[in-house]
Amino acid sequence: MTAKRYRCSDCGNLTRFDVTATTTIRSFYHYDLGGELHIEEDAVLDRSVIEVACRWCGKGDSVEEVEWIPDGETASGARTSGGRPRGR
Ligand SMILES: [Zn+2]
Repeated sequence: MTAKRYRCSDCGNLTRFDVTATTTIRSFYHYDLGGELHIEEDAVLDRSVIEVACRWCGKGDSVEEVEWIPDGETASGARTSGGRPRGR
């Protein structure tokens, strides 16, 4: 199973990036009778990346997304397939 990760083709950085993204979250706002707010559930409805910049050389246009096989996974390794786990 492969994953995606970022890579800077300019300096070879694989690990550190500045990612600018917008996230849409639905939250459960629970006020107690005293008026104090407790935010109890956050559900991420949408997330879109606006810009990725290399933390080392600062360039944004050299960062590309690459396929990556995470450590500890073999090419034939069958974990539970069928998408990523969702929060409930
Ligand atoms: Zn770079």
